[in-house]
Amino acid sequence: MKIGILSRNKNLYSTRRLIEACEQRGHEYKIIDALRCYMSINSTQPSIHLAGEELEGFDAIIPRIGSSVTFYGCAVLRQFEMMGVFPVNESVAITRSRDKLRSMQLLSRKGIGMPHTGFASKPGDVGDLLEMVGGVPVVVKLLEGTQGIGVVLAETKKAAESVIEAFMGLKADILVQEYIKESSGADIRCFVIGDKVIAAMKRQAQPGEFRSNLHRGGSASLVRITPAERRTAIAAAKAMGLNVAGVDLLRSERGPLVMEVNSSPGLEGIENATGKDVAGMVVEYIEKNAYSKRTRTRGK
Ligand code: ADP
Ligand code: GLU
Repeated sequence: MKIGILSRNKNLYSTRRLIEACEQRGHEYKIIDALRCYMSINSTQPSIHLAGEELEGFDAIIPRIGSSVTFYGCAVLRQFEMMGVFPVNESVAITRSRDKLRSMQLLSRKGIGMPHTGFASKPGDVGDLLEMVGGVPVVVKLLEGTQGIGVVLAETKKAAESVIEAFMGLKADILVQEYIKESSGADIRCFVIGDKVIAAMKRQAQPGEFRSNLHRGGSASLVRITPAERRTAIAAAKAMGLNVAGVDLLRSERGPLVMEVNSSPGLEGIENATGKDVAGMVVEYIEKNAYSKRTRTRGK
């Protein structure tokens, strides 16, 4: 098969591993930098060019779209979809997953467990916002944050109010969330492909830190997940419409709670923690599912 990998950098671990997996499984591949693509939009024959060359004959695209290029990256992916190419994750699902509020509203509508969460832009009554989520301690998050930056634990009402006011001063949208103390600085990353969790790892924060992000010094290890965690991760990926997803869960007294669903989950942490060939499994998923005109959205 001919597989396009939408990635801006062929030296990234995840991209390199996907290239290896394509080679090992005997597929032709091309790394496509979405930002360098230009497209012709017309009613008869949508096309995409890159450096003077037409991109054609692809069976599938593996989107690895960084969050800073979501808008244009998804437009290029949508163009491939309009051409009948199978996307490992559809453009609509990726766009959806990049909007935290939309994602959480969607997950809640499906009855999937999540920490009690409040959203706000310019709350007139911060005290009431805190009450809405059950009072302190709370976790305050910048909506645009990644890698744990802009995620703050506020243990007192005073601290929570000043963090919220500071964030508001930055004109940033925020999310205020019930603090899940019993997760003890750990979260579970479930790597979902299709309707299976194919690998899972536990990330544990450094002592004295509640954020378990590897970028914040957290450490990853192999973990056995419970049937409820497995069901929750699969349901969350499905609710988002993602075939490949990294679902982050917190272990709470009332069961697994979904924190986030990632549409371009990194491969390095999970492959190292589990010893599994996750890249190979992504390509295997394509082998089983990609055939022409199987794109459901066709650019919707
Ligand atoms: P980012 O998307 O920037 O990684 P997260 O929302 O995933 O931000 O939060 C970073 C980390 O903080 C999580 O991996 C988790 O360890 C911890 N954390 C986040 N929200 C909560 C919460 N409500 N209760 C307990 N711990 C949390
Ligand atoms: N930044 C990636 C995304 O927005 C997530 C990577 C990860 O957490 O594995 O999809």
